[in-house]
Amino acid sequence: MSFDKNSGSPSMPAHVDTQLAHIGREPSRFAGMVNTPVFRGSTIIANNLEDWEASRQIDNPMANYGRFGTPTTRSFEQAITTLEGGHNCLVFPSGLSACTHSIMAFVKSGDHVLITDSVYGPTRTFADRVLRRMGIDVEFFDPLIGGEIRNLLRPNTSVVFVESPGSWTFEVQDIPAIAEEAHKVGAYVLLDNTWATPLFFKPFEHGVDVSIHAATKYIVGHSDALLGVASANERAWCILKHGAHDFGQTAGPDDIYLALRGMRSMSVRLRQHWESGIQLAEYLRTQPLVESVLHPALASDPGHKLWQRDFLGASGLFTIELKEVGRPALSKFFSSLELFGIGLSWGGFESLALPLDKPPTRVASRKSYQNPLVRIHVGLENIEDLVSDMGQAFTQMEKAL
Ligand SMILES: *Cc1c(COP(=O)(O)O)cnc(C)c1O
Repeated sequence: MSFDKNSGSPSMPAHVDTQLAHIGREPSRFAGMVNTPVFRGSTIIANNLEDWEASRQIDNPMANYGRFGTPTTRSFEQAITTLEGGHNCLVFPSGLSACTHSIMAFVKSGDHVLITDSVYGPTRTFADRVLRRMGIDVEFFDPLIGGEIRNLLRPNTSVVFVESPGSWTFEVQDIPAIAEEAHKVGAYVLLDNTWATPLFFKPFEHGVDVSIHAATKYIVGHSDALLGVASANERAWCILKHGAHDFGQTAGPDDIYLALRGMRSMSVRLRQHWESGIQLAEYLRTQPLVESVLHPALASDPGHKLWQRDFLGASGLFTIELKEVGRPALSKFFSSLELFGIGLSWGGFESLALPLDKPPTRVASRKSYQNPLVRIHVGLENIEDLVSDMGQAFTQMEKAL
């Protein structure tokens, strides 16, 4: 099977499971190897002057220097481009660097930038510290704003940065409505699409210009590498590419290989994360010490209607808001958990429970959270084991009240 540079083979069946098994690899180019090997390299040697000059042409799909990628990089980029339905894609050394460099590519001093209030914390810190220092007017907006964002847009708004559902609090945004208004003033819509993965939200069908993933999460899927990707539509592609190249952004081939390998099983894994996530969330809703469960795939969630309209599935990450249980009981809860690790990141095969140490920073949201929040990542363990582990930890917490 051969692949078009940007879109995969035109004959590729549309079923995503089939795509995942075949995109971004060409055994005939690599001595029959099923997987594109790890290419390490800086210098790429041309045979003669003509080949050298051809390699420098702007439309050359292969790189002429290792910083711009190797065949390993191209395989991964092709695969992500196909899954996302974009024009092209770039790999970054972390999810955060994909977010920050994507923003940097589209802004200049004096611009106005709108960012969702429930954006990933470090992206918010970057906006507050770096963008403001560069003379960019940063404004946060209520994730539930929808088309009303028209009241915040200005002629100099260059970027609207969305993340749906949002970090920690999982508000689903009306991306098509936001994109429609943003485009009227010529702004670019950048989406952190990490929660949905490239499988469950198709950004370019909803008006997004640049779609970003922390590949560290479900794409790598095994908690053993950090990586980011940003895909762009045709309108945004050259701006994104130049922005990243001007900063010398590049990612190592070993991590990219791990991401390609993880990606092959992503659909199978996600079905389990999705199903177990809903089962555990439903169970936790019945716990007396749980105030609310923030998970857009639950029918009770305020974002459920939008999720149903725009998403094709759910991952295994959600938050529970506890009653005001106090420190000793909270501590007892965490020390009683046996299958859930306390740690940052998510999207691996293992379950995690993460306490939020202070209420999430929100300056524009209607709803605020003062009670303890615990973010839960449901891994690939047996769901009955996970439910019973949570159950006994809640019993222990209750005893410590
Ligand atoms: C984890 C995460 C990131 C950052 O990814 P890293 O690879 O850890 O830098 C960005 N956005 C979201 C929504 C995340 O959860």
